[in-house]
Amino acid sequence: MLSAYNFEEIRTPVLEQTALFARSVGAETDIVSKEMYTFEDRDHQLLTLRPEATASVVRAYIERGLSNEGRIQKLYYLGPMFRRERPQKGRYRQFYQIGAEVLGSDHPLIDAETLEMLMLLLERLGLKQSSLLLNSVGCSRCRPEYVKLLRRELEPVKSRMCADCQRRIETNPLRVLDCKVEADQPIIGRLPSILDHLCPECRQHFETVTSELKRRGIPYEITVRLVRGLDYYTRTTFEIIHGELGAQNALLGGGRYDGLSEILGGAPTPGFGFAIGEDRLALAVEAAHSLEAQTRPDAYIAWMGESALAPALELARSLRREGFRVEIGFEPVKLKKMLGQASRLRARFAIIMGEEELASGRLQVKDMEAGQQEQVAPELIGPYLWERLKA
Ligand code: AMP
Repeated sequence: MLSAYNFEEIRTPVLEQTALFARSVGAETDIVSKEMYTFEDRDHQLLTLRPEATASVVRAYIERGLSNEGRIQKLYYLGPMFRRERPQKGRYRQFYQIGAEVLGSDHPLIDAETLEMLMLLLERLGLKQSSLLLNSVGCSRCRPEYVKLLRRELEPVKSRMCADCQRRIETNPLRVLDCKVEADQPIIGRLPSILDHLCPECRQHFETVTSELKRRGIPYEITVRLVRGLDYYTRTTFEIIHGELGAQNALLGGGRYDGLSEILGGAPTPGFGFAIGEDRLALAVEAAHSLEAQTRPDAYIAWMGESALAPALELARSLRREGFRVEIGFEPVKLKKMLGQASRLRARFAIIMGEEELASGRLQVKDMEAGQQEQVAPELIGPYLWERLKA
């Protein structure tokens, strides 16, 4: 996929000088303030195991004079990253990222095209439950005004917020939007949206990105709180989350960082990039495929009362003859238990046959996904299932 969009590989060192991350990622971020593995070298220089690779790629771009090649650079990397986080499923202290950076243009089509590539990649991997969350965090012209406004709004309610937020209000109020503490959410929910405070250029940029996504049929959700954990972002920020991942549901993230090169001492060089969490990608692919590969009965026949067993077996035989995948239990158990079994097997429909149904000549067919139930005559069950399974 990366080669289809003309990306080339770049390899940067796993160890970098600590200052690289402190300057780019931001001293006030979780990554720099508490998650980096840092140690002193023999000559007392501080080194850090890279927590991310964008800063390294931009450093290499500057040092190697890649801007002199006079073209947009499209670079990808893969490899281990290190963050001293609390480990849990999908969150590790050594994890792997596949990332890419487009350096040398601030054109909104770069943002849209890169997002298109990511969505195509996820589609190819069969990850249907992926949602693209999108925001703009403005630029060095409009963001400071918004940050001032945030601080003004937050000052009067500061004492009611968590200790982290109280600190962030002083150091970096934008980070407050990231807070996950339940008690702070009503306050955060009432804060002004950054999208209402973008300068005309940033607004235009964001409008082009979103209209290009629409044109390509890529759904997205505007998420005004998405400021992401790193300081270097400008304008577009995004995350793709996946429904099968549980608590650590961010599959990948990224955005635009038009000022990063200058922060690192290079010439102004706009950039846009992303990093996919490879470990989480593997978990999501595994979950999606195991669900898909799991065989599912079309129907489970739930019968009640000894007298229903023979007609239930007869119905199972005739549906199987028609080509349906059918399961039936042989033990006389309560309806609730039978339906429980049907849902464990992930049957699409349960056909309920009790004495009442047999007497009335109409069986109950329950759609196990929608939860709805309909009465159907036994001889029409085949066509009834066929119609719905085909859809
Ligand atoms: P970030 O560099 O924080 O934007 O992270 C980009 C992606 O890397 C996330 O969406 C995750 O999929 C993945 N990631 C970040 N931190 C971890 C971690 N500690 N363990 C596993 N994956 C991670």
